[in-house]
Amino acid sequence: MVTNVRSQVAMVFHLDKCIGCHTCSVACKNIWTDRKGTEYMWWNNVETKPGTGFPTLWEDQTKYKGGWEKTESGELRIKSSGKVKGLANLFHQPSLPTMDDYYEPFNFKYEDLTNAPAGKDQPTARPISAVTGEPMEIEAGPNWDDDLSGSPIYAENDPNLMAVTPEERAALFEIQRMVFFYVPRMCNHCTNPTCVAACPSGAMYKRGEDGVVLINQEVCRGWRHCVAACPYKKTYYNWQTGKSEKCLLCFPRLETGQAPACFHSCVGRIRYLGVLLYDADRIEEVAKSDVGDLVEKQREMILNPHDPEVIAAAKASGIADDVILSAQKSPVYKFVKEWRLAMPLHPEFRTLPMLFYVPPLLPVVGKVENGTYEPANPESLFGSLKEARVPVSYLASLFSAGNPAPVIESLKKLMAVRHHRRGVSVGDLRPDQINGVLKEAGVSAEMCEAIYKLTALASFEERFVIPAAHREKAHEMMQETELVKKETGFGIRQKPARGE
Ligand code: SF4
Ligand code: SF4
Repeated sequence: MVTNVRSQVAMVFHLDKCIGCHTCSVACKNIWTDRKGTEYMWWNNVETKPGTGFPTLWEDQTKYKGGWEKTESGELRIKSSGKVKGLANLFHQPSLPTMDDYYEPFNFKYEDLTNAPAGKDQPTARPISAVTGEPMEIEAGPNWDDDLSGSPIYAENDPNLMAVTPEERAALFEIQRMVFFYVPRMCNHCTNPTCVAACPSGAMYKRGEDGVVLINQEVCRGWRHCVAACPYKKTYYNWQTGKSEKCLLCFPRLETGQAPACFHSCVGRIRYLGVLLYDADRIEEVAKSDVGDLVEKQREMILNPHDPEVIAAAKASGIADDVILSAQKSPVYKFVKEWRLAMPLHPEFRTLPMLFYVPPLLPVVGKVENGTYEPANPESLFGSLKEARVPVSYLASLFSAGNPAPVIESLKKLMAVRHHRRGVSVGDLRPDQINGVLKEAGVSAEMCEAIYKLTALASFEERFVIPAAHREKAHEMMQETELVKKETGFGIRQKPARGE
């Protein structure tokens, strides 16, 4: 029986729709990180995959030691700290990213464009280091290996390529790496956040009413344990204020019914936002699951908002009626749980992210043969997944901790939606061909139509289902969280359902 229901404002990014325009990153930068000390921060960034990302090689936890690790006795331990390590590392975190791992922030000397004396040459604006104020040569940036620019020097170092065979690697890089896709990243507002658990000052917390993970700037002492502990490297240290900072999911916008700036401005309309209800009593058990089961177990933890038992338990846990109503209309619930299309990024870090990705289908149904691109035979459509240009093993390394099953299930469904729509709008496939594809993918024509509509036609209000803010509940929930934090020393456990 479910007794401890929590609500979370969760997110889905549909990667087939991302065009890598970086509008989201710029919208965020203009609002939140255009201050002194935040020059190098990109709370939202967009990476080309294969690629090494920002900060470089952030996925390599042998280098950065982020996230949780499961001990031999089956317990969870913060990789970067722990009782003995935490004390030893209190004044120096050895696995923090350095400026070289991020980049040396710069600006341009724009006044040279207008003040330069008349001459034969066009004036240029030279890059100036934001650290030293001196002219500099730019050697790195937050999207340095974007598109084709860094290949293969950077892309070949992508840690996820360890999961692919030499043949798959060769296919990935054929015709000068024509196969790439974009992964926009921001804080995942995790259910089991290492950043919160690692903070020695108790400055970090997960808001009870909507699950947004925040840093109390008045309490933060700049120990930077959150920076080391976050496996996604989504907390940053502000050298001007001496405090850490991170994405706050634009909560002042959310509280007034507006989508976060990166969501609102997304050109590809890849972003969806909505409430998920989950069983908070299962967090620890799910986070300790066998690595291949993490996606499935996290899906199990998410509750059906239409189930009368869940609704009653949610009300008893203090969740407002309009939040439950939002959960019932949530596009995130559909993509993650109902249609089983979206998965978390690197679930093996065990933070239980609340940002999920629909994997990219890309030109998965074709490959290059004798120097030309050949579409796959429609009669053996799913067989072509074995030869996909972005190997399933690569996507599984990103989205399902190496287990190919959830990725294959998702890709088959995406292919079925395309076949269903081709049947509707082009009409060149036989009904038995289409039905065969739908049957193998385990979807009905109605589900394909619903997926198509939410993917391609959804309005602003359908993509962002934002619940009304309930600050009165927030205060009460915060007090409960503080109480449990005092009792357990662990800032993310919340008190069991009220009424007990
Ligand atoms: Fe914390 Fe997760 Fe966000 Fe990292 S991604 S800062 S662990 S909530
Ligand atoms: Fe992708 Fe949207 Fe960001 Fe453009 S604005 S890079 S489409 S997530």
